Amino acid sequence: MRLSAALTEIEDQYLWDADASLAAAIESEEQALALGDERLVFRARLCQANMLMRKGEVAAAARRIWKIHQWATDHNDQVVLARTHLVWANIHRHLGDAAQCLEHSVLAVELLDERATGHMHVWHRAKLADALGLAGSMDAARQRYAQTEELAIELRHPRLLMGMLNNYAYTEHAAGENGRAQQVARRLQQVAELHGFRLDPAVLDTIGVIEIENGNYLAAEQTLREAVRRHHEGNYEDADALAEYMLTLARAQRFLRATDRAQVSLDQSRTLCVERGLGDVLVRVHQEQAELHAARGEFAEAFAVHKIFFSAHNALHSSQREAQARTRQAMFETTEARQEAERFREQARRDPLTGLRNRRYLDEELPGLIETGGPLTVAIVDLDHFKRVNDQLSHDVGDQVLVLVAKLLETELAAVSPEGFVARMGGEEFLMVLPGTEVPEAAGRLDDIRRTVGYYDWAGLTRGVPVTVSIGVAGLREAPAPTQASLLSTADRHLYVAKHAGRDRVVSAAPHEARHQSYRNSASAA
Ligand code: GH3
Ligand code: MG
Ligand code: MG
Repeated sequence: MRLSAALTEIEDQYLWDADASLAAAIESEEQALALGDERLVFRARLCQANMLMRKGEVAAAARRIWKIHQWATDHNDQVVLARTHLVWANIHRHLGDAAQCLEHSVLAVELLDERATGHMHVWHRAKLADALGLAGSMDAARQRYAQTEELAIELRHPRLLMGMLNNYAYTEHAAGENGRAQQVARRLQQVAELHGFRLDPAVLDTIGVIEIENGNYLAAEQTLREAVRRHHEGNYEDADALAEYMLTLARAQRFLRATDRAQVSLDQSRTLCVERGLGDVLVRVHQEQAELHAARGEFAEAFAVHKIFFSAHNALHSSQREAQARTRQAMFETTEARQEAERFREQARRDPLTGLRNRRYLDEELPGLIETGGPLTVAIVDLDHFKRVNDQLSHDVGDQVLVLVAKLLETELAAVSPEGFVARMGGEEFLMVLPGTEVPEAAGRLDDIRRTVGYYDWAGLTRGVPVTVSIGVAGLREAPAPTQASLLSTADRHLYVAKHAGRDRVVSAAPHEARHQSYRNSASAA
């Protein structure tokens, strides 16, 4: 219980220290493994995948997410599935695939039910609105944002309310709607004041960018100075972020024509970029430097720096493309591997000659059906005097007979027991499984099937050698114990009775048993 709560805390986090959360999630996985709690193990793994993605290790995150998705699907775990789709949506956003991002965001919302946390209800909807905005459907995005805003207020989630308003404002800004962005940013500031929250530096950066777009350069400079101050006060490890704030600050100062202050801010941003290897921010630092030279009338320098910017920009884009290709490759490989494994699994559970299920499949499926305790009938079907077919015709004709009998059994069974299946037990012996059916009812239907086999027009294939089957039936209620072994041995005993009574018949009870029943159709006797 404590571990589950600790995981929820990581899962429902709004602001991350990705390294610390990753370490906590790895620790949680170890504890969950020690407890033997599979669900907690997979929740911890999902947290790890999410944090890897946050750290930019997208290919590694993508590789893990499949297995988690598979587990959640197998166990019909809606909450884990919903969270998985949200991480997936973020991976696709990272890859610049707006359509896939939207598809997974939709699923992340559709899978929400009463077991999902309040955080999920708000945040998954906010991310769907983000995805709609990214895909260019701004009207649909706004509708979703409005619903999310209401829900966050209703659920009293001011932190998330601020988070979603931040994204909302950014989406409007990215769509070029800076007037609307400004309005949303103002609501965000009001919420913060109302609840006595200080805005996070990242939020202040968004607000500052919008202020610049709207020509409020003085306000922007103040906002960004505040962002930098809060970054230093707070416990924000994110080096990327500070370099971004300094860069936005430099832009605001350039527009204010305070080029000296702008140069100081820009130099600080550049130093951070170089120290921490922040390639993508550095490219924009070059770009801003060119603008700054131009603002000072230093056109030769502006041109020189612009060239630096241009080649850095290209280099960055090709390395980003390579990283994206690696992630796509990783996702593709895991899909391939999964499909391959499924194909192999499926093949290993089928009989190659007839295409029917095999013994292995039976051993996996039957115990589960027995466990439900509901009505269940099984029937062993054995070809009569099959050796004659092989001996008088050929082994090849024997094979063809087996294939045809298999087809007949499968088609006939599908008509009377859609949930049932036929397996080839080996040789010329098959097992029919009829879930939800009691023996008396099943015996009648099995006799129809027996008749169908006998009446089939075999002449062309067997040249007069008859093909008939004997069937031994057993039900869960009739078997001495509710086990596979007991059920099959009862059916086998009844098959033996059928063979000794002259073949081509269905036997569902031994002669000494009270409800003895034997069906025979003399017209198709061997
Ligand atoms: P009964 O009515 O008592 O069941 O007589 P039967 O001849 O059918 O029974 P028996 O068990 O003596 O022989 C089964 C034969 O099935 C022996 C074997 O050659 C044949 N057989 C088993 N597997 C295959 C197969 O895959 N293909 C072919 N063509 N024959 C097979
Ligand atoms: Mg036989
Ligand atoms: Mg046999």
